[in-house]
Amino acid sequence: MTLLWKTSTETDDPCCDQLIASVKDMVQPCIQCGTCTGSCPNAFAMDHTPRHLWRMVLMDRTDEIFHSKTFTLCSACYYCTLRCPRGLELTEAMATLKQIALRRGLSRYKQSTLFYKSFMESVRRHGRVREMEFMTLYFAAMRNPLIPLKFTPFGMKLMSKGKVSLEIPSKGRGALNEIFKKVEELEAV
Ligand code: SF4
Ligand code: SF4
Repeated sequence: MTLLWKTSTETDDPCCDQLIASVKDMVQPCIQCGTCTGSCPNAFAMDHTPRHLWRMVLMDRTDEIFHSKTFTLCSACYYCTLRCPRGLELTEAMATLKQIALRRGLSRYKQSTLFYKSFMESVRRHGRVREMEFMTLYFAAMRNPLIPLKFTPFGMKLMSKGKVSLEIPSKGRGALNEIFKKVEELEAV
């Protein structure tokens, strides 16, 4: 398989080829009925519909898959999985594509990867997300002072309505440290 989708600066991870093959296995019985697309609440924002994404997987169009934002917009609501007439694990397949992008450090997904990592870091520290801390971690990771400025009016609005609390970022008690470590061990196998 030619990996044109990966630049020379991005990480090579031999597990990724296996993961891509596993996604192909997951969607092999797809009959292209389009029920997944019709069920997906985020399809309107995707550049390829879920049905089309599965078609690309089956046709080994890896370059196009990893230039698409479709899988990054999956919010894991499970509607497609519940409604697929072939009973395919579509949410799991979307999650695996996200995992590949993360493992390979694909630069075009940097923003969504850092967003996800910052969210999970806050959950790891406190057992739940602390919005203020999460956004602070994300802005720091993005290293672009213009991004916080863009979000300031929205943040002020949320705070005025009591939707975001003013909790100061902290290391917390590492409430979920052990669980996270275990998952990291399992993923490293
Ligand atoms: S709902 Fe299932 S069978 Fe239908 S297009 Fe989507 S993945 Fe394929
Ligand atoms: S699980 Fe993801 S792809 Fe499936 S319907 Fe929900 S958002 Fe769409």
